[in-house]
Amino acid sequence: MATQGFTTGIVHSDKAFGVEHGGVHKPIHTSVQYGFDKVEDLIGVFQGTLKGGFNYARQGTPTTAALEAKVTRMEDGLGTICFATGMAAISAVFLTLLRAGDHLVASKFVFGNTNSIFGTLRDLGIEVTTVDATDAANVAAAVKANTRMVFVETIANPGTQVPDLGAIGDLCRDKGLVYVVDNTITSPLLFRPKTVGASLVVNSLTKTIAGHGDALGGAVTDTGVFDWNRHPNIFAAYRKGDARQWGLTQIRKKGLRDMGGSLSSEHAHNIAVGAETLALRVTQSSATALELARFLEQHPAVVKVHYPMLESHPQHALARKHFSAGSWLLSFELRDASTCLDFVNRLQIPVKATGLGDTRTLIIPVAPTIFWEAGAEVRAAMGIADGLIRLSVGLEESADLLADFAQALA
Ligand SMILES: *Cc1c(COP(=O)(O)O)cnc(C)c1O
Repeated sequence: MATQGFTTGIVHSDKAFGVEHGGVHKPIHTSVQYGFDKVEDLIGVFQGTLKGGFNYARQGTPTTAALEAKVTRMEDGLGTICFATGMAAISAVFLTLLRAGDHLVASKFVFGNTNSIFGTLRDLGIEVTTVDATDAANVAAAVKANTRMVFVETIANPGTQVPDLGAIGDLCRDKGLVYVVDNTITSPLLFRPKTVGASLVVNSLTKTIAGHGDALGGAVTDTGVFDWNRHPNIFAAYRKGDARQWGLTQIRKKGLRDMGGSLSSEHAHNIAVGAETLALRVTQSSATALELARFLEQHPAVVKVHYPMLESHPQHALARKHFSAGSWLLSFELRDASTCLDFVNRLQIPVKATGLGDTRTLIIPVAPTIFWEAGAEVRAAMGIADGLIRLSVGLEESADLLADFAQALA
């Protein structure tokens, strides 16, 4: 199984479930309730002794389970739990594994809504320290006696900073900390966080895994690396049997069942179909993004391009070491920031929209939109210039995009 290619694994993974009536493609299971001939089986599902059974769709359906198996396979993990959105997955991780009095160390370069959740955690009595995680020494210096977890993103949106993923993994292993890596921008095609010792991997399935801008979803994958015996916050009820399952059990019961951010079968289906072409799409959009980044970098009207596979990127060596390509996310600054909005309006192909990992190229000026609520101070601390423009490169032919950027910059 592990020797098969990435896409071979994805497109054939449904066979493991014995697809109904021989249907080659997995159907969409819309039933909320699941009934049994014998009441003992119903009891078995509730008590966890009947493996693979379903009882109520908030905790999963055959369709979401099939997607979970695909994500587990993509991440080479132990198991996965899917959620309604990436944010539901991230908040479930924090709220089920951290308690008042605990300390979280996080990269200061993170998705805006994740940064916003840090404020909620602080209000709940959980300490959060954000650091420049591009240097693992900053993470090490922040760790205290009550630190329980470290959180980073593989490539930060929108600044494209890359944390010192391997050294942070070593630190977390030594200190017994849960190491959570948000793999959304790289996706499991370009990087597997398990290789740097991540305990949990988060993916916003909404982005490149679904890939077509038609479904929201999120996932948490346990890599099997972390020893949950070392985490004091696992409830007694879940400290039973194979310790490798404790973390996922707690996240599924407390984070999915109780908090209820459940993925619908319809969206799980769209995401699963999108995932089949993940490798094709990300390979092409990453190649186009690199071409575009090189073009922009040499253009006199552009003052700065942020893309990890450019030699000028501060963490270029780290990116080369860990990622097989630079992804479809890049950002840049015009020499004259006051021309930024006119420039964006002159572009014909990119859609002026938020969102990431679509088939279409999407473009957005960052400061007045996604980082507006954060305010000038937070933007400055996160290194977000007023004229920063974010690009999510789609599947258009690169010649078309290059020509469009050339005319808009002229
Ligand atoms: C979009 C995104 C999220 C949140 O995902 P949603 O599915 O939109 O809730 C989390 N992390 C990163 C890096 C993202 O880009």
